[in-house]
Amino acid sequence: MRYGKRSLVVGLSLVTFVLVTADRRALSQAQPTSDTLVVRGGTVLDVQQGRLLPNMDIVVQGERITQVVPTGQVNTPAGAQVIEATGKFVLPGLWDTHAHTRDYDGALNIHFGVTSTMDMGNLMDWILSLQEAREKQMSFGPRIFPDGMVIGGKLGPHEWNVKSPEEARWAARQNIAAGVSFLKVYQEATCEIVKAAAEEAHNASLNLHGHLRDCDARGAVLAGIDAIAHESGVAAATTPPAVLAQNLARNKGESGGLGLPEALEDPEMFDDLIKLMVDRKVRLEPNIVGVFHGAYPQWDKYELEQHRLSRDPSLNYLPEMYVRMWFTDFTFHPYPPTPELHEKLLKALANHQLFARKFVAAGGKILVGTDNYYHAPAGIAVWEEMELLAEAQIPNLAILQGATINPAIFVHQDKNLGTVEVGKLADMDIFSKNPLNDIANVRSLETVIQHGKVQDRVFHSDYREPIPRPYLPVNGQLPRPYISSVQPSAVPIGTSTLKITIKGQDFNALDHVMWQDVELKVASFSPTEITAVVPDELLCRAGTYKVQMITGGRVRQASYNFQEVMVTFGRKFDQRWNGQKLSIEF
Ligand SMILES: [Zn+2]
Repeated sequence: MRYGKRSLVVGLSLVTFVLVTADRRALSQAQPTSDTLVVRGGTVLDVQQGRLLPNMDIVVQGERITQVVPTGQVNTPAGAQVIEATGKFVLPGLWDTHAHTRDYDGALNIHFGVTSTMDMGNLMDWILSLQEAREKQMSFGPRIFPDGMVIGGKLGPHEWNVKSPEEARWAARQNIAAGVSFLKVYQEATCEIVKAAAEEAHNASLNLHGHLRDCDARGAVLAGIDAIAHESGVAAATTPPAVLAQNLARNKGESGGLGLPEALEDPEMFDDLIKLMVDRKVRLEPNIVGVFHGAYPQWDKYELEQHRLSRDPSLNYLPEMYVRMWFTDFTFHPYPPTPELHEKLLKALANHQLFARKFVAAGGKILVGTDNYYHAPAGIAVWEEMELLAEAQIPNLAILQGATINPAIFVHQDKNLGTVEVGKLADMDIFSKNPLNDIANVRSLETVIQHGKVQDRVFHSDYREPIPRPYLPVNGQLPRPYISSVQPSAVPIGTSTLKITIKGQDFNALDHVMWQDVELKVASFSPTEITAVVPDELLCRAGTYKVQMITGGRVRQASYNFQEVMVTFGRKFDQRWNGQKLSIEF
């Protein structure tokens, strides 16, 4: 049983939630008196063949599509809701194939036409409850197809920290018994563990996904993996062994499949791996928006649109912690990159794009996944990823398939989802411009239909998930520090023996205190207050300097939080009035 006694209380609050939500939405549009919906006269995109079917009427009864016929052939029943779609384009609802679902992202996804997600690792009880709530329409947001707990990994309670194939088999069976939609292995998985997980998945007729590191892409494909997240493990399989050995020694394996190692790839080695992947029907999730977050040339534009989105007053429920991560958490360090690092990142990006392009040209199927929550906001990142894939010269049809039918097939939901066809669940997006001509036309989205009903695309600041996700530190045992203040906040140029006081929460003795890119010596430590010494040579140039933490231990990741200290030309603002200091001190 998934629900215990506590579910009765939760159930009652769900009913209240649904009633309040339904009531509010009824005000904004006339309520149809039957459960029939007709989308009239639109051009339907057959995402499998790439054909456009103009002037079609789509009839939906309840949750399912019952007819797709040339316009005029349907007698619209009285009371049916009619959506006029002449001159518009009707596509299946979009998927995000790499979601880390959080309790604030349901409305965000629906707003951007994302009606289904593959959840790539979460708290088991929470994600299974949310999946059920979404199917029963007790929660507003995309359908969720979860992998349950990730097999292999040490980051937190969403992962099985398995050390042997036997443990991996046991973990896989626990997930399967709980009813997950696919399995996923993480970077600590060796090829033996990948093989064990693949066998268990296949015995249960499920597919195995993976974020690779300790087993490279070739090894994982030979071990039976069915999809590769972040294009991980490709660098290890396509970098000349001598170059790779040197690089791994330097990085101690930290950089995995993300970011830098791809700069060392030898594109001559791509074709062999691509042939193996295509022969074995292994899907590729390029995840450019996540892996190269902050590095691709479109970042300035996306950063601005994400800032605008996050400042929408109706989205004031977005947790500050996550919003900050979208703008400060990158797969590389420092940010912004030094010119030398930037050059390497662009080389890596070019190789990453080339591999994905060649993979699709050879007949491989891609998955459009964002790795929200921390590398990107849910919803909008799907549009951005689609544009970045087009920038990589992947054909628009292949991209649209990667966001519709490919994931539906991957999680064995293609009888229900992934195309606009009779018998399928009526999850559809209506666009005023054709995304097949120009992928950026996904931005012309006008209407989102899910569960056979037009969904509310307006954000509401009272949006609440009926079962909020329990708070846990992002990376398990490595608490993410929160800096509330750094004092002094300004010092005159040429100051010597400066000691700064950093106050906040969840400081960890393993954290590194950074002044821009330079690590400071810690003079005193407590979980809420650190003092650190700033060397004199860092104070000889005026400017504004970022003080932040890098979490310690094996995973080095910039904190989402920072404060800035100014080094001024020396004039000091007198804060005293009649000898009394009036300004507020932290
Ligand atoms: Zn992920």
